[in-house]
Amino acid sequence: MTEQEVLEIFKKTGAILEGHFLLSSGLHSNRYFQMARVLQYPRIASTLAGELVARFTGRDIDAVIGPAIGGIVLSFALAEKIGVRSIFAERENQVMSLRRGFIIEKGENILVCEDVITTGGSVSEVLEVVKSYGGKIAGGCCLVQRGKHNLDFPVEFLVKIEVENYFKEECPYCKSGIPLVKPGSRNLSI
Ligand SMILES: [Zn+2]
Repeated sequence: MTEQEVLEIFKKTGAILEGHFLLSSGLHSNRYFQMARVLQYPRIASTLAGELVARFTGRDIDAVIGPAIGGIVLSFALAEKIGVRSIFAERENQVMSLRRGFIIEKGENILVCEDVITTGGSVSEVLEVVKSYGGKIAGGCCLVQRGKHNLDFPVEFLVKIEVENYFKEECPYCKSGIPLVKPGSRNLSI
């Protein structure tokens, strides 16, 4: 699958919208991401996961982990393809941790995933969780890589997208008089 083909799927399912959006940060952007909209289709999620899993052929992977909520469905889809456990990390008193009886055995090889990676903040918090259990990082992957992340290991992605963010005063879309859209959900990926 080419990046263009994946992008078409994202657009068709409404996972990526193009226009003039007000983000939860207050910035204006030309793109809005909501990966839950593509991952709500299990067969598409499975196809996309297959594309990512192919990049890790021959790699030892004992489990897949992602941060809640964005990483849960992708982790499940990846783990189903590989035939291993799918777990997720979530915040407890602001600290990313494993709950619900999930554990990582010492020495297990863990694939870390996230739907959209920007700077890699949530993923690096998940890394700390994996390391705290004595797990090893088998690799990282995501559906969308936005710009450049700060992670110190390679991350596989299906599409890389540069997103324009503007302060209201400098927004060219405002200046062109294009109506500003506030996405319905506060659960933005950006
Ligand atoms: Zn604007």
